[in-house]
Amino acid sequence: MSSLCFINGTAVLPGGLVEDAVVECAGGRIVRVGRAGRRVPKAAQVVDAQGGYISPGFIDIHVHGGAGADFMDGTAEAVRRVCAAHARHGTTTIFPTTTTGRPAQILAMLESCAQVMKEKGRAGSRIAGVHLYGPFFAEDKVGCHSAEGRRSPSFAEYEGYFATGVVKVATCAAELPGAQAFYRAARKRRCLVTCGHSNASWGEMAAAFKAGMRHVDHFWCAMSSVASVRQRLGVPMQGSMAEFVLAQPEMSTEVIADGCHLSPELLEFAWRMKGASRLLLVTDANRALDMPAGRYRFGSGEDGSWFTSDGKVGWAPNGSLASSIMGMDHMVRQMMKRTRAPLWDVIRMASLTPAERTGIARRTGSLEAGKLADVLVLDRRLRVRRVFAGGRPV
Ligand SMILES: [Zn+2]
Ligand SMILES: [Zn+2]
Repeated sequence: MSSLCFINGTAVLPGGLVEDAVVECAGGRIVRVGRAGRRVPKAAQVVDAQGGYISPGFIDIHVHGGAGADFMDGTAEAVRRVCAAHARHGTTTIFPTTTTGRPAQILAMLESCAQVMKEKGRAGSRIAGVHLYGPFFAEDKVGCHSAEGRRSPSFAEYEGYFATGVVKVATCAAELPGAQAFYRAARKRRCLVTCGHSNASWGEMAAAFKAGMRHVDHFWCAMSSVASVRQRLGVPMQGSMAEFVLAQPEMSTEVIADGCHLSPELLEFAWRMKGASRLLLVTDANRALDMPAGRYRFGSGEDGSWFTSDGKVGWAPNGSLASSIMGMDHMVRQMMKRTRAPLWDVIRMASLTPAERTGIARRTGSLEAGKLADVLVLDRRLRVRRVFAGGRPV
């Protein structure tokens, strides 16, 4: 059994740091995490962290593309390309995310992901499942997605998606007709059930919660506020998705911590209110990640809506943001720089918390004996130096 040993670094565990740690792996799994001192097995391949950090690999549940490709391009080649790009940014587990689009486009995306999931020995982020995100968005909260590609959920349509067996995260706006049946079907498939691109009221969120909804996509972006619910439903003013998520301890949510979408006080607020076990970091990255500034399509390369990347973030033609162009390593650095969250909390939000919420925490998400050897070496400034997925260098 090939053994692999990470030494000379600070290990980042969910509850704290272990200085001068040794992370021992064998046969693609973590065997032991502890302090240096015990002797390293002679035959082990040694990875010297050079005084940096030994971190669990990142997990991204909301990501559209990178390196010029979008998962909605609908080809296995595009899927491989995006996975390779995000692996370079430390993401070892990825949930390819659909946009709005025609049913045939969404099916092609699901099928190409299913195909790549079966490939053995492929380099790049491991696909743990697909996030069925579009098309079931509210008309007034469609954001940068193509508006023609949105619709209300219908059983025949989403059962076709669920039947592929790869959907593990499922989004629908709570106020749409048929939303509760969608949530129940998604829960039956053991998905993380989420409400996004929605102008839902507290009452609609409470009904959704009953049907199994437990998560809200990119907090503060394309979601309801008290003011937006008043515009839709009048007075008396009612609670919105924001209040519901903050008041309900079971609800989790996510932030796009690229420094462009949310100000530092909002990032800090989200972490303080929800805590590291209910807040996730996501990239929400599009195809402009690792690409020069310019014009790109969001979603399908064939007919996705246009946006412009300025090299920092995407912009829709109407002047609103069109998702991020940064990898998870950038989000981790921003959370460290802009908030008072400790490193172990920041890393948890990018690894163990998404693993727990999607039901894969027994396999991955932290440096613990028995889990897959998904391990990163980061330098002291949290830049990615080495990436290992299942004990294999990426
Ligand atoms: Zn979105
Ligand atoms: Zn998105």
